[in-house]
Amino acid sequence: MTNQHVGSELNHKVVLMLFHNDLRVHDNQALHTAARLADNGSLLLAYVSGLADSSTPNWGEAYHFDEMGLARQQFLIESLTDLDASLQNFGNRLLYLKEEHSEQNLDAFIQLCQLIEAQKVTDICVSSTADYAQNLAYRALEDKYPQIVWHYRSTVTLFKSMPTKELPRSFTQFRKKVEYEHNLLSAQDDLVTCQNFAKLPCVPETLGSNDYTFEPRAFDTSVQLEPNFKGGEGQALAHLNAYFDAQAPSDYKVTRNALDTWDHSTKFSPWLANGSLSVKVLLNRLRHYEQEVVANDSTYWIWFELLWREYFCWYGVTHDKDLFLFKGISNRAPSNRHNQQRLEQWQSGETKYPIINACMKQLNSTGYMSNRGRQLVASCFIHELGLDWRYGATYFEQQLIDYDVSSNWGNWQYLAGVGADPRGCRQFNLKKQTQQHDPNGDFMDKWLS
Ligand SMILES: Cc1cc2nc3c(=O)[nH]c(=O)nc-3n(C[C@H](O)[C@H](O)[C@H](O)COP(=O)(O)OP(=O)(O)OC[C@H]3O[C@@H](n4cnc5c(N)ncnc54)[C@H](O)[C@@H]3O)c2cc1C
Repeated sequence: MTNQHVGSELNHKVVLMLFHNDLRVHDNQALHTAARLADNGSLLLAYVSGLADSSTPNWGEAYHFDEMGLARQQFLIESLTDLDASLQNFGNRLLYLKEEHSEQNLDAFIQLCQLIEAQKVTDICVSSTADYAQNLAYRALEDKYPQIVWHYRSTVTLFKSMPTKELPRSFTQFRKKVEYEHNLLSAQDDLVTCQNFAKLPCVPETLGSNDYTFEPRAFDTSVQLEPNFKGGEGQALAHLNAYFDAQAPSDYKVTRNALDTWDHSTKFSPWLANGSLSVKVLLNRLRHYEQEVVANDSTYWIWFELLWREYFCWYGVTHDKDLFLFKGISNRAPSNRHNQQRLEQWQSGETKYPIINACMKQLNSTGYMSNRGRQLVASCFIHELGLDWRYGATYFEQQLIDYDVSSNWGNWQYLAGVGADPRGCRQFNLKKQTQQHDPNGDFMDKWLS
């Protein structure tokens, strides 16, 4: 099939939606656009695994981690299972493209090209993303198929475009500008839910009913995700209700630094990261809670943290591949060096710092670590162990079920003193932090015994 044939049937649109970090039907503008465009045509809804699984550019032989660890894989598979079920309820289904699923072991990009050509795709809908590697894949497709019309939609951030003219160098400046210039309720604009459709347009008749079927597979039992962390939109919305119904937001600011208690922080990050939960829906729920229950320092602080997420999303868009540079967005690279032995001790939780070891063991067995834990292990990695921060960020990328390219690399840059921190690098006093956050040693006992 040549490029000329693609998109030749102009009256009959064949729309392809590529899911990425927008794995939901609620408040999903990309899906909504795809469904609308395909009204008189057909609709392909696909998730392509391995189109850009790792955000990390290829540093050559430097890194030896798997692209996606077992916990991340499990959470993703659960999320896709849930998405497939939702799409089937609307009369369509999820197409799953993955290298190992092809008889000839064709790589995912080539399979996607075959699908586009065989089905004569006319339009592609995607969510705008800060994911550098994903964007490279989109660019490559745009270049290969110039006749296909692309529709980029905002589904990941609170604001459709960057809420400040330029991205300020620090979070504080960003927050002040956003709070000054924007009505805090502006996220309520333009919510569109796919539930408006009784049905989604169907897949093309030319696609075999067994083609690209999504089949969930068994999980590795060595991973024990916190039972509440189950992937999928259904679970995300259930958690949203449970969190607000329990009135946990009222105390968030005083409890959020806990190392290990479920409702001491919101725990929305894994669902936000893969898009099973819309951040706008979350903010609307918070505003509603403030009107109906209480608006206090704690509820404000949830907004504050969501703004950190927003800041890093636009930081990722702005700094693109500089997110991965050793010198970050600064002028000077740190003097730290890679050391394989120290790296492995840190990874497996075998350093001489018990609080670090407990956090790393928690991460390795559950795929999650508290924000305080992340700050401590990153600070130890950079300052006590003197290591190249990019190895730490890459290990997080492999392990975290809430891995998000901008939040992860942005936070690591920040802590390494090569990012958005005007004060330069931050070192945490591990002894003091242990006394403050684990005074009786309960957290360390749990993970080190
Ligand atoms: C080195 C390092 C790496 C990190 N990597 C990631 C990552 O890959 N993905 C990720 O989602 N978060 C990352 N974070 C930020 C933060 O640790 C997690 O978002 C948070 O711990 C998730 O738990 P929670 O949902 O209970 O957070 P809460 O404390 O309840 O915060 C509410 C929400 O605000 C956002 N948020 C909070 N703190 C931050 C922050 N510092 N930066 C960006 N967003 C924030 C998250 O979306 C979070 O779900 C990282 C932090 C550090 C220090």
